[in-house]
Parts: sequence; C-alpha cells; structure tokens
Amino acid sequence: MTGKLKITIDRKGCINCRQCLITCPEFFEQNPKDTFSQVCPKYRIENNPGEGEVSGKLAEIVKKAADLCPVRIIRIHVFAN
Ligand code: SF4
Repeated sequence: MTGKLKITIDRKGCINCRQCLITCPEFFEQNPKDTFSQVCPKYRIENNPGEGEVSGKLAEIVKKAADLCPVRIIRIHVFAN
C-alpha cells in the first residue's frame, strides 16, 4: 500500500491528451476553461488545481497515470514523515 503522496501537475505544459483523465478519473479532471488537466477539488492542496494529495490504492493509479503522461508533467513527491 502506498503512503501519502503529493502530486503536482505543471498545467501549462498539458497537451490535453486525456490520458490521465482516462486512467484515473477520480483524481484528474479537465478544466473547462483552459482545457488543461487539474486535480479534482476533493484531493486538492489549498484548492490549488495543480497540487493534490493522495494515498493508498488510489495513489497507485495516480502513479500509473503519471507514468503515462507523454509530456511528463505529473510529478510525484513523497511526504516526509
Ligand atoms: S496525461 Fe499529461 S498531457 Fe495528457 S491530459 Fe494528463 S497532464 Fe495533460
């Protein structure tokens, strides 16, 4: 089981390929205005669309989505305990 992770999306680099949204729709969504991927409100850190927090099974799927991003703008950071 994966511990707590911080996820960042460098949104300006998003090419809107939708891969992350398809792989993990619970965590990623498309911003209707700028069309870039963003973190779903439930998982955001301080309501920042480019930063989120996730753990457990969902974190595994988010990591998979990050691996599949063709422009590598989804980054995983491990919280220090
Ligand atoms: S996989 Fe990467 S480029 Fe594609 S929509 Fe998600 S963040 Fe954007």
